[in-house]
Amino acid sequence: EFIEFGSAQAKEEEKRAFDNDRAHVFHSWSAQDKISPKVWAAAEGSTLYDFDGNAFIDMGSQLVSANLGHNNPRLVEAIQRQAARLTNINPAFGNDVRSDVAAKIVSMARGEFSHVFFTNGGADAIEHSIRMARLHTGRNKILSAYRSYHGATGSAMMLTGEHRRLGNPTTDPDIYHFWAPFLHHSSFFATTQEEECERALKHLEDVIAFEGAGMIAAIVLEPVVGSSGIIVPPAGYLNGVRELCDKHGILFIADEVMVGFGRTGKLFAYEHAGDDFQPDMITFAKGVNAGYAPLGGIVMTQAIRDTFGSEAYSGGLTYSGHPLAVAPAKAALEIYAEGEIIPRVARLGAELIEPRLRELAEENVAIADVRGIGFFWAVEFNADATAMAAGAAEFKERGVWPMISGNRFHIAPPLTTTDDELVALLDAVEAAAQAVELTFAGALF
Ligand code: PLP
Repeated sequence: EFIEFGSAQAKEEEKRAFDNDRAHVFHSWSAQDKISPKVWAAAEGSTLYDFDGNAFIDMGSQLVSANLGHNNPRLVEAIQRQAARLTNINPAFGNDVRSDVAAKIVSMARGEFSHVFFTNGGADAIEHSIRMARLHTGRNKILSAYRSYHGATGSAMMLTGEHRRLGNPTTDPDIYHFWAPFLHHSSFFATTQEEECERALKHLEDVIAFEGAGMIAAIVLEPVVGSSGIIVPPAGYLNGVRELCDKHGILFIADEVMVGFGRTGKLFAYEHAGDDFQPDMITFAKGVNAGYAPLGGIVMTQAIRDTFGSEAYSGGLTYSGHPLAVAPAKAALEIYAEGEIIPRVARLGAELIEPRLRELAEENVAIADVRGIGFFWAVEFNADATAMAAGAAEFKERGVWPMISGNRFHIAPPLTTTDDELVALLDAVEAAAQAVELTFAGALF
């Protein structure tokens, strides 16, 4: 309705967007001279449209945020209604929608939580979570996994595993790393998940001992590792880390920015660790409002909240809990709470996606590993960049806009993707994997 695909005007708009982008937009995470960004015209459900009207399934949900698809009428309407009433209010005031969202998150999160601190996204949620942990415990050191991504601001960048911050100045010297379990690339030469789990816990225990347990405020962990490889921890690992935390008075911060709000088939991914498992803080963003406006936050226990009962917490942002960001969060939480979407993600992840990918791995000699859960899967290849590029081209040929990270396909479509779209996506994964295999084998022989 906004654009006639393929028309002269559409082509003109696309060209203007691209030219101005190249002339004036500085892109994140990019070598500015080497990029040629695709310009999108519109999106609906799980489909992205370019200016010619070509349709592509959104395989990566826009950095794994568009959990409820594009142009979801309930979220759009929530923003429109809020915009017509109250668009901007200093966070020091009360705000009915923000209160509703806080109450709803606390009631939906499994465990004993009491308060929510709102931020503009994931990285600032991480910054505040570790600041609060330091003030709460009176300790300064923070531990995180090498294979992790926690955001691109000061301390969040330091928490993010070493390889991500090459070239960045050290802004927080009190952050230390450990090797969380990853069977496929085991640092311990483990051959089973049990072995990998046991040794990763022993290693973490050593890191805690050598860094000085009494100096460590918190361990920050993604309950399922996201952009660093989609790694589901072995059964017992999160519980083992929790035990170490309890033994030494260390806080457990679950970074659910990417996997929270249904991605793994549970509201929060830490729930896979069992009914008794509870983190001290949860950081969230993305799925909380399906990416309809910038929003993130921290869910915390009463004990942490009480640290700042009589002494002020100094920290916050002009737009913390912005009305136009919490309005779609309220609508999104209502949709999650209706109870259809997340159980379907768990079921289709186990019954449709997993068997199909495992079968593919049997047939395709270039596939090194398949792993994941819910609507969150990695297919890892033994292949070079040329072969991966052939895979990307095949995806586009088949109407899928790929999410590829190094030698991995990441499969993370919106949680509302239909059965037919999922099958089309998996067909494309198979064809793209074949293109990788043929190109790589072709280079070898
Ligand atoms: N933590 C995790 C686990 C993430 O995946 C991300 C982003 O992908 C972040 C933190 C940072 O979030 P943001 O990009 O909203 O700052």
